[in-house]
Amino acid sequence: MSVVIVGGGHAGGQAAASLRQDGYAGPVLLLAEEPHLPYQRPPLSKQYLAGEWDLERVRLRPAAFYQDRDIDVRPGARADGIDAAARTVLCEDGTAVRYQRLLLATGTRARTLDVPGAGLPGVHCLRTVADAAAIKAELKPGGRLAVVGGGYIGLEVAAVAASMGLSVTVLEMEARLLKRVATPAMSAFYERTHRQRGVAIRTGAEVVAFAGAGAGGRLTAVECANGERVAADVAVVGVGVAPNVELAAAAGLACDDGIVVDEHARTSDPNIYAAGDCTNHPNPILGRRLRLESVPNAMEQSRVAAANMAGAKRTYAAVPWFWSDQYDLKLQMAGFPEAQDEAVVRGDPAERRFATFYLRRGRLAAAEAVNCPREFMAARQLLGKRVDGRRLADSAADMQALVASASA
Ligand code: FAD
Repeated sequence: MSVVIVGGGHAGGQAAASLRQDGYAGPVLLLAEEPHLPYQRPPLSKQYLAGEWDLERVRLRPAAFYQDRDIDVRPGARADGIDAAARTVLCEDGTAVRYQRLLLATGTRARTLDVPGAGLPGVHCLRTVADAAAIKAELKPGGRLAVVGGGYIGLEVAAVAASMGLSVTVLEMEARLLKRVATPAMSAFYERTHRQRGVAIRTGAEVVAFAGAGAGGRLTAVECANGERVAADVAVVGVGVAPNVELAAAAGLACDDGIVVDEHARTSDPNIYAAGDCTNHPNPILGRRLRLESVPNAMEQSRVAAANMAGAKRTYAAVPWFWSDQYDLKLQMAGFPEAQDEAVVRGDPAERRFATFYLRRGRLAAAEAVNCPREFMAARQLLGKRVDGRRLADSAADMQALVASASA
């Protein structure tokens, strides 16, 4: 049996490693479009951008890991097509590789803004290490940065740049930061935090153009629909991502906001699996389908895909979780809070150390924790269980004791 993996991100890299860890001894070929060994993206808006980590540290594993395990990783090799009937992947360089099982781990790409000036020098998006290196080279203390989009990536870039001494403005089209991914209380906490660090926040600000110095010259300002003009030398656009489904769709695989897979990470072709950001998958715990953009999802779903490609029948069923680092704050979230949930707060936001637990009919449905790793770990064990809200709110109550006493 031979396995071909397309995509060298978290999902592709982990799948290759898992195949060997699970004892699969056949050929493994990983085609990675980017000219790098599989690497982690989270540091690109955190430690790498801040100059604290170099490229070596950003890699998922060193080159020797793949060599020692006879995993054939080909950086700079783009897959251009799949002939599903012939079980062949067609590479950009004209070569064709045969597979018995194929894993698509093609991830997502950054959405761009279709407005005048979006291609000016100084306007960036952030998805790859090349993007991060280009942004890093332009972040200079005293410079002016406009961040378009107040989601996690935009806010992490804002935090790094403000800490470096740039003057930073965040332009968010919605009425609050993090609207798609966090509760109103968490949005308000992060807005306050950024303002305290000197970041200017504009909500309801729709960017309509980037202006440059003369025709095609470097960025000088970002223009909003309400007429506001924000002077800037650098702009980072963080307005979401689009799943890379073209390869799958052209091969006739079912796609619907992602490559459609079942709970075993299998696509509509029984020989082709998919994992990570690019998938639309069922979550038996949440009782619905979703597409997730998070490292834990990419890692766990690719482990399941690897096991199943090698003949197992594992099910992917995990409560989604995510983290974000901004300044000295580590935010960790699990599950999705909904409007009707009861919110129980433990700790004090003013002390920058607190957790909010969301209860649905007496059971823990979701949690958000800021600088509270112990509470977060306990919350992951408590999800779906019946919990006593008063004890959760009591900072003196031991979290492990709560876990031990929680009923199913
Ligand atoms: P990707 O990492 O997107 O990898 C897919 C790879 O496939 C890419 O390298 C792409 O070039 C390659 N590819 C695509 N098509 C082809 C082809 N035809 N042939 C060959 N190769 C191909 N998540 C968190 O949980 N916490 C965080 O703090 C966090 N921070 C982030 C910060 C940044 C700046 C970014 C960009 C993302 C962050 N994420 C974070 C999200 C996380 O990085 C993604 O969820 C994760 O990378 C998904 O992994 P993946 O392997 O599915 O996709």
